[in-house]
Amino acid sequence: MSNTLNWKDLVLPHILNLQAYSSARDEFSGDAKVFLDANENPFDKEQNNWNRYPDPLQKDIKVQLSEIKGVSKDKIFLGNGSDEAIDLLFRIFCKTGDSNVITCPPTYGMYKVSASIHNVENIEVALTGEFQLDVTGILEAANEQSKMLFICSPNNPTGNSLRKDDIQNLLENFNGIVIIDEAYIDFSAQKSWIHQLENYPNLVVLQTLSKAWGLASARLGMAFANEELIKILNKVKPPYNISGPSQELVSKSLKNKNAFDKQVKAILAERDNLNQKLQDIPGVKKVYHTDANFILVKINDAKSIYQNLIEQGIVVRDRSNVKLCDDCLRITVGTENENRELFMALTKIEQN
Ligand SMILES: *Cc1c(COP(=O)(O)O)cnc(C)c1O
Repeated sequence: MSNTLNWKDLVLPHILNLQAYSSARDEFSGDAKVFLDANENPFDKEQNNWNRYPDPLQKDIKVQLSEIKGVSKDKIFLGNGSDEAIDLLFRIFCKTGDSNVITCPPTYGMYKVSASIHNVENIEVALTGEFQLDVTGILEAANEQSKMLFICSPNNPTGNSLRKDDIQNLLENFNGIVIIDEAYIDFSAQKSWIHQLENYPNLVVLQTLSKAWGLASARLGMAFANEELIKILNKVKPPYNISGPSQELVSKSLKNKNAFDKQVKAILAERDNLNQKLQDIPGVKKVYHTDANFILVKINDAKSIYQNLIEQGIVVRDRSNVKLCDDCLRITVGTENENRELFMALTKIEQN
């Protein structure tokens, strides 16, 4: 069933042959009394080791994540946000001015920006009217130069999950790397694709601590893939891509899975509440089904509603210029209080 493609043939030759930078921390990582190998300042003023370079492979965090996610630690790459993983994938698989990638708008804007940065053509195959994948269209648009396909599920900004059968079809028939961005998977009842890594060597799953884990400021993105590809990602990344303070903060937060579960539950409850109330706002034409921590709403005069909300100190995301999202606003689920303020503001607009 699995794709006959040999994913390794897609890796650019200079990357396959790349000799990785060997840092002081790579060459010696055991316990010692005196570290004079990395030209660090020896004074640890606040007794927190911040005068020292951090672990380049973030081993402690990977052990924790491996347990939480049920995936071997050798299948985990950590980046400075998912955005770093996306950038590295372009460096590994796409030749400037020659390769192309396929994206399915409306979707997360960073895939396209990253393609532009690397001077790689971005072929857009729009989602269907139901915001699902146009599988035939994607396979027809793909050619020899198509190295990567970006799928976002649950999708940003629409909020829905993409059908499993369609994704599976693409994993089996697209002759390139399939990247499934699961930034919002923790809010969804759908199963993660990280459990399918054994079946699809051309699969990369992206997740992040920026959303459900509440650590957007720490900048920690995860890529899950076969061990060999993880090794290549580690070879190409800057040696110390996750700072020591970030690693410390993340490690501490991952120990508190209870707090995480509680917050996700609260956000989901508030999502239901928001969903309900939005239906009753006059001018609202459609509240789209969501599996994420935001809701896409089609509303009359979206642009002026957006402006008016700003005047009342409330910022939502105007998506009305985005393909298939005419007159749509994307609203993040906030706290109960924040959501109440949103409704008070919306009600005010409607009275004027
Ligand atoms: C928010 C978001 C991310 C997160 O990116 P980070 O760089 O990890 O903060 C990734 N993908 C999608 C679709 C998002 O909406």
